[in-house]
Amino acid sequence: MRQILNAIGGQLVASTSGRSQPVFNPATGEAVANVPLSSVDEINAAVAAAKAAQVGWAKITPLKRARYMFRFKDLLEQNADALASAISLEHGKTHADALGEVQRGIEVVEFACGIPHLLKGEFSKDVGPSIDSWSERAPLGVCVGITPFNFPAMVPMWMYPVAIACGNTFVLKPSERDPGAVMLAYDLFEKAGFPKGVLNVIHGDKLAVDTLLNHPDVKAVSFVGSTPIAQYVYATGTAAGKRVQALGGAKNHMIIMPDADMDKAVDALMGAGYGSAGERCMAISLAVPVGEDTANRLVAALKPKVEALKIGPATDKDAEMGPVVTKQHYEKVKGYIDQGVKEGATLVVDGRDFKLQGYENGYFLGGTLFDNVTTDMVIYKEEIFGPVLGVVRAPTYQYAVDIINAHEFGNGTAIFTRDGDAARDFADRIEVGMVGINVPLPVPVAYHSFGGWKRSLFGDHSIYGPEGIRFYTRLKTVTQRWPDGIKSGAQFTFPTL
Ligand code: NAD
Repeated sequence: MRQILNAIGGQLVASTSGRSQPVFNPATGEAVANVPLSSVDEINAAVAAAKAAQVGWAKITPLKRARYMFRFKDLLEQNADALASAISLEHGKTHADALGEVQRGIEVVEFACGIPHLLKGEFSKDVGPSIDSWSERAPLGVCVGITPFNFPAMVPMWMYPVAIACGNTFVLKPSERDPGAVMLAYDLFEKAGFPKGVLNVIHGDKLAVDTLLNHPDVKAVSFVGSTPIAQYVYATGTAAGKRVQALGGAKNHMIIMPDADMDKAVDALMGAGYGSAGERCMAISLAVPVGEDTANRLVAALKPKVEALKIGPATDKDAEMGPVVTKQHYEKVKGYIDQGVKEGATLVVDGRDFKLQGYENGYFLGGTLFDNVTTDMVIYKEEIFGPVLGVVRAPTYQYAVDIINAHEFGNGTAIFTRDGDAARDFADRIEVGMVGINVPLPVPVAYHSFGGWKRSLFGDHSIYGPEGIRFYTRLKTVTQRWPDGIKSGAQFTFPTL
């Protein structure tokens, strides 16, 4: 059995904590690796290694830090296929989908390659007689990343390349459900020649998270995961005096206006609802057609497509969707479908009994479609994180906007329409962080920033892009005058220039 190792101070080391758990291939149900649940001492060692490396790393010029990043980016590109295979093996998503994830991760590394420009700061000459002033962005020290299972390579890359380019060092605690891809990326990071201890990877569970959140040498924590844990991480980390950005769960609505191109809207819903088996924080899990006629046309067009979804393991090149991540998650998603039936939603396509020949022990669910979902139902309120799409029939556009604005989550949303006025009004009034207009998955590119509103993000900063630079640095403003400009005699009044 493959043993997953910790990476501390440039060394790959086996944990001696005595605690570990299996990592499964969700397509077959077989254990493919064993991941350690590290001890407090091991976590402390990772933070100490990061701390020891930080001062030296911050002294390396931004231009040289960028050159390391360029080498890392090249190696990631050369190994994209292997990274995608590592993702699919433990996560279950299709190879093409995993390649897309790797590409979006690489784009953040590409952004971090621009660090000399991104750290340029601001300069004002002659703020007073012979006095100049500038503001610069200084690194924080040791930063931590705690990441979810659903983008095992990309979400860590939302964090550590930006933090490290800024002059920080990093301790990453990846998801214990699919840690393999992170270790492959770590190997490439080391091959790029970064000094030892700049990136450390420590595997673990709540104990690891709590130790990192309370460690005095940790200055900032980036978290991505479910909302209850995001809220906990934010509360605990900020109480311990750390800067925290904690991105949480989602329930993303897509409005389909009566004038929308229905074929395009249906294709968009298929990809955004069922791609990656619905295990994306930007997945569309609720379709909101406006008007009965739009709703009838939408459900009639969706039903045969959901029934015809090609489901298979990542090794099947034709598969459009793979299994869900674990047996427990499979049961949880199935439970939500049972709940929807009990609550009175109309089950148009039932994925509960789906079985894939030859993969009977895999965690495969069929695509599921509910109609007549209402806002009081649990399947409307809670994040299911599976291949389950609900249709909420909205009598008016105003109703659709109101329910989205009233929802506890505010990660992503979309509208499909041909009406520029409606689209503009929607973008203006909707209380959601990432908005798509005829774009179902409006995931910002690497040089913008990613982040939801409401209970989809705790903290003041979105992640990566310009917000990432702000999060991983603190502002210092220097005011400078040289002796020639200093008048003799003490001045006791408050300085005015
Ligand atoms: P999760 O919250 O279960 O786990 C995330 C991380 O928290 C993992 O590293 C895990 O080890 C750790 N953790 C779990 N329980 C903990 C506890 N009790 N105390 C301390 N740490 C704990 O999330 P997941 O199931 O891995 O990922 C799916 C969730 O992540 C979904 O809710 C999804 O919407 C969300 N997500 C959000 C975004 C975003 O950008 N907003 C992106 C991807 C995923």
